Amino acid sequence: MSRDEKKVKPPDACELTPITSVANAEVKLLRSLHQRKYRRKTGWFLAEGMRICIEALQLGYAPIRIVYAAGREAEPGLSTLIAACQKSGGRVLPVTEHLLTRISRKDNAQMVIGAFVQKWTKIDEINACLSSAGCWIALDRVRDPGNLGTILRTADAAAAAGVILIDDCTDPYSVEAVRASMGSVFNVCLAQATAAEFSNFCQIWQGSVIGTALPASIDYRQADWSGPLILLMGNEQAGLSEEMMGLCTQLVRLPMKGRSDSLNLAVATGICLYEMLKV
Ligand code: SAM
Repeated sequence: MSRDEKKVKPPDACELTPITSVANAEVKLLRSLHQRKYRRKTGWFLAEGMRICIEALQLGYAPIRIVYAAGREAEPGLSTLIAACQKSGGRVLPVTEHLLTRISRKDNAQMVIGAFVQKWTKIDEINACLSSAGCWIALDRVRDPGNLGTILRTADAAAAAGVILIDDCTDPYSVEAVRASMGSVFNVCLAQATAAEFSNFCQIWQGSVIGTALPASIDYRQADWSGPLILLMGNEQAGLSEEMMGLCTQLVRLPMKGRSDSLNLAVATGICLYEMLKV
């Protein structure tokens, strides 16, 4: 090893002094990632738990910060994460268990929390990254992070290509959405568009656009689910806007047999995606 390489060799994780104060600048930075404005400013987000951080690494996301309970360096997986973080120029932060709870803002916090860089696909790149039978899910103003995370998880399970967030949506990189996605946020492409951009995109889109709406007359089981297609889902309260409905090549409904007048957004998305998988 040359003298220069020796100079930049990062410290062994177990040589690091554990951080104990919530006023530490790194702890403050990580805690700020609970707020959208700081996720926007930094382009970072938090993911909790060893399994999810290791999966992220396997999917090509090197952590820029790894925070963990000091003394746990020997736990399986942690040394891999620490090495990957240091190799990519990130920082490794052993902290007290109390501080882990303060960073995750959750009782029974995971022993490991990673900070990662967000990845967004440009809407005009979508045609290029779509396989011929692929499916994108477009969400019109989705507001609930639990719904969005669950949709990401379901999209991943159904091998959908990605999710397009139209207009003012909840952030897929919020801690709540990432938790609900169970790590699928790392494996599903994400794009953002205004209603006007999405409308323009639909003009050049080569596949179909299947919208779901309560007033639709076609039963979802009668629709043509052959791809490529965009599955367009509406807002939790207001449903699909008139403008969005106007973009659909097919508008379908899921039968409501009982007293309830609609399905939960994530449940309706899952039913449609699995109907699509039958084709
Ligand atoms: N009150 C809203 C409405 O009038 O559309 C209900 C919205 S629903 C909770 C959220 C979204 O899930 C809808 O916009 C639609 O995309 C989908 N959805 C839920 N139940 C559905 C059903 N029975 N038929 C078609 N789409 C449904």
